[in-house]
Amino acid sequence: MSILPRLLVLPLLLLAADAAAATTDPHSYANTEAVTVRSLALDLDVDFDKRELAGTAELSLDWHDPAARTLVLDTRDLTIEGVEAQVAGGPARVLGFALDQRDPILGSALRIRLDQPAASVRIRYRSAPGASGLQWMTPAQTAGKQQPFMFSQSESIHARSWVPLQDTPSVRFTYTAHVRAPKALRVVMSADNDVKHALDGDFRFTMDKPIPSYLLAIAVGDIAVRETGPRSAVYAEPSVVESAATEFADTEKMIETTEKLYGPYRWGRYDILVLPPSFPFGGMENPRLTFATPTVLVGDKSLVSLVAHELAHSWSGNLVTNAAWKHMWLNEGFTTYVENRIVEAVYGKAQADEEFILAADELRGELAETPKPDQRLVPDFDTRDADDAGSDFAYTKGAWLLRTLEAKFGREAFDAYLRGYFDHFAFQSITTAQMLDYLEPNLLQKYPGKMSLAEVRAWIEQPGIPADAGVPTSERFVSIEKQRGEWLAGTRKAAELDAKGWNTQEWMYFLDGLPKPLKAAQLAEFDAAWHLTGAANAEIARRWYLAAIRADYRPAREQMAAYMSRIGRRYLVLPLYEELARTPDGLAFARGVYAKAKPGYHPLTQAGIEKALAKKKKR
Ligand SMILES: [Zn+2]
Repeated sequence: MSILPRLLVLPLLLLAADAAAATTDPHSYANTEAVTVRSLALDLDVDFDKRELAGTAELSLDWHDPAARTLVLDTRDLTIEGVEAQVAGGPARVLGFALDQRDPILGSALRIRLDQPAASVRIRYRSAPGASGLQWMTPAQTAGKQQPFMFSQSESIHARSWVPLQDTPSVRFTYTAHVRAPKALRVVMSADNDVKHALDGDFRFTMDKPIPSYLLAIAVGDIAVRETGPRSAVYAEPSVVESAATEFADTEKMIETTEKLYGPYRWGRYDILVLPPSFPFGGMENPRLTFATPTVLVGDKSLVSLVAHELAHSWSGNLVTNAAWKHMWLNEGFTTYVENRIVEAVYGKAQADEEFILAADELRGELAETPKPDQRLVPDFDTRDADDAGSDFAYTKGAWLLRTLEAKFGREAFDAYLRGYFDHFAFQSITTAQMLDYLEPNLLQKYPGKMSLAEVRAWIEQPGIPADAGVPTSERFVSIEKQRGEWLAGTRKAAELDAKGWNTQEWMYFLDGLPKPLKAAQLAEFDAAWHLTGAANAEIARRWYLAAIRADYRPAREQMAAYMSRIGRRYLVLPLYEELARTPDGLAFARGVYAKAKPGYHPLTQAGIEKALAKKKKR
C-alpha cells in the first residue's frame, strides 16, 4: 500500500480532522478527504465470449479540497484504456493516469492527474475474465443448460474488480447504467428493474438513492420473473421461478411487518433474484433486488428467514451503513436482530426462538477456536482482508447485544429507539462511536438505571459473551434433546424417534448436538431409518455429511460428492472440505471432488476451498 497520497493530503487532514476521522477506510486507496463521488454513470457491454464487461464509468465529483489535483480510485485487475475530464461547457480533455502495483488484498490504486478540479471524469476500461467480483458461467453450469449466466458479488471490496470507483462504504453515490447484452438474456441490477422489460439486449437503469459501492450489483442470464405482491417479484431461471415464487410468497407480509416496526420501506420495489447454486452466499442485500441462493427453496418456507435477513438490510446496512468493514456488526448484528423480529411477527415466537437458539449455540461453539481479539464486536481488521470481517460475532453477538438492550429497556421503548436510530442516520455511513454517541442520550440516559454505557461497551470491546446475555427456551428442542440422549444411550432405536414432523431447525438442532465423532454403525442405523444421505434439504444434508466425515461413514460419500459439486454456497460446502482435509484419505477424496467441481464454483468459494486443502489440519 502506497502512502504517497495520504502524505499529500496531510495538511487538509489537519484542517478537516473530524470529517477525515469519520471517512478513513483502510480497505480503500481513495482520497476521500479531498474528493468524493456523487454519482456514477455506467455504459457497459457484456461479452460472454471474452468474459468481460467493457465500456465507460463516468464519475461526478464533489471536491472538498480546492487545492487537490489528484483523484485516487480503487481498481482490481481492470485494464484502464483512457481517462477524460468533463469540464462544464468545454470539450472533454484527456488526462494522465497511473495504475499502482497490485496489492493482493486491495488491488491497484488508479491515480488520475488533473490540472483543475473537474466536475466529472470518464474512464474507459474493461474487466478481467477472473474478476473477483464477477462469476461467468457456461450454459452447462446453469439449471436451464441453454444460456450463459453472469452475476456480481461486490461486498466487501469486489466492486473495484468491475468498476473503477471509490470502493469504500463511507462514500455514497447514485447511479445510472446503460448495459448491452446478448438478445434473449435479461439484465437486472440493484436499481429500478422493469418486470415487463423486452429482452432486446438493451437495458437502462437508475438508482436514485445514494448507495455505497458494495451494493452495486448486476446479473445477466436466462431470467424469468413472477410477481409475488404489489411491490415484489421473484427473478430466477425459468425452471426455478415457480418454486421460488411459492417459497417467497410471504414477501409483502414481511415488508409490511418491518415497516410497522421501523418505518417506511424507502427503496420502492423489493425484488428477489434467485441465482444458480454456485452463488457463494446465502443472500446479498443488493438494494431493490436481493440476490439469493436456491438452497433455501425447500418447499415449506422453513428457510425464508434468509429473505427476512436481506429485507432487514433495507434498514440496517443499506440505509444506515457501516463506514468501514471493522464496524460490520452495525450492518450484520442489527440486521440479524431485525431478521428475528420479522420471523417472530410472521411465523411466530417458537420459530424465531428456535432460530436464535441455534445461532447462539453455534456462536458458543466458536469461542474455543476464535482468537480472543476477534471475539470483540469491532475487531482490528485494518491490515486484513475485509472479506474476513463477517464472523458469527458480528452477526450473532451483535444481535445478542440488541436483544439484551430490548430485554432491559422493554420492547416498546427499544422499538421506538431503533426506529429513531434508522431515521436519524438514514442514508449515512457511521462508525461504532457514532452509534454509541446516539445510544447514550436517546436510550441509556432516557431510561436511567437499566443498562450503563460501560455495560454496553463491555459487549463491544470485551471477548466472549457477557453474563447478562439471555437465551430463550424451546419446548420442542427440549423434547428433541431428550430423544437424542435416549438414542445415543441405546434405549431408543433411530426408527422410534418422533422425527416425522420435525422442521428444518429441529433437524439442525438434533444433528448439531451429536457427539463428535459417532460410530459409523450408528450412522448406518440412523440412515436406514431417516435416509439423510442424499437429503434434498441442504442445511440438513450439510450437518449429516459433517457427521459422516467424522465417523468415516463411507456409504454417504457418493451423495456427498454430488452435493459438493452441485452447490457452491461457501457456508454449505467449505466446512465439508475443511473436515475432510483433517485426514490423508479425506484430503485425497476432497481433492478429487474439487478437481471436478471447481469450474462451477465462484472465485470466492474457490479461494476458500484452496486455502482449506492447502494446509492439512490435524485432528
Ligand atoms: Zn447480512
